Amino acid sequence: MRAAVAELREERTCIGLVPTMGALHEGHLSLVRAARAHCSAVVVTIFVNPAQFGPNEDFAKYPRTFEADCALLEKEKVDVLFAPGTAEIYPPGASTVVEVTGISDRLDGVSRPGHFVGVATVVAKLFNIVQPRHAFFGQKDAAQVAVLRRMVRDLHCPLDVVVCPTVREPDGLAMSSRNRYLSPEQRQQALVLHRALRRVEAKVAAGIVDRAPLIDAGLAVLADEPEIRVDYFSIVHPDTLEDVPDVTAGALVAVAAAVGPARLIDNLLIPPR
Ligand code: AMP
Repeated sequence: MRAAVAELREERTCIGLVPTMGALHEGHLSLVRAARAHCSAVVVTIFVNPAQFGPNEDFAKYPRTFEADCALLEKEKVDVLFAPGTAEIYPPGASTVVEVTGISDRLDGVSRPGHFVGVATVVAKLFNIVQPRHAFFGQKDAAQVAVLRRMVRDLHCPLDVVVCPTVREPDGLAMSSRNRYLSPEQRQQALVLHRALRRVEAKVAAGIVDRAPLIDAGLAVLADEPEIRVDYFSIVHPDTLEDVPDVTAGALVAVAAAVGPARLIDNLLIPPR
């Protein structure tokens, strides 16, 4: 990877980086296409990062579909695929982490302690290895976006973060590698996440700005599917992830829930009126 980067930089190539954990779908490919549109060389990484999984989470069974991923990336004419092993990224005795304090303990950080330290650490490593001019992330992981934007600002990382819209299935379900865990029945139940977000969006469009009734409205929709286990339903500022008292344009409405074996997340940004 270093040799490839050295060559690209000698040619003054603008490198676009798309970090992923593989099990690629159209959401990932939308980032690849955005990178292709912005940059002259596209580097995709596939690394299932053990540091961002908790002890009781799905690291061991996370879908690994390397051959199919390679075929998709070849079709997109990706310039470099970097798929390191764990020991390359975490050499024995590795003891340095990147912690974006405060913000890493909100939203998913509450029920996944340490998750965003794992994310920030691996992304900082990938930035150092690949030295991209632009790095592409999905709005689907809104809290991750907030953490990484803050890290890039605080550590003066010499690159721009580009955030791409959430890609959805035709029925509204946000695409996710973890959707593979769902039975047909659970897949149907999972649609309630997007419905709850849309209900809040509609209420805001109708003039409701108070946080409490909006959250109640979202939770009421989620209650339509009693088998799912809601982790959070929240309305926050997209940069700080702190609760907003008045819900206006730009506010982030975010939800996480366990649907069968899958912990799913989704969100939307309240559009301008
Ligand atoms: P992951 O492989 O799940 O770590 O995701 C890699 C990147 O793809 C992250 O920046 C995600 O936010 C992004 N991503 C995942 N799902 C989607 C989606 N449905 N739409 C847009 N981006 C996505």
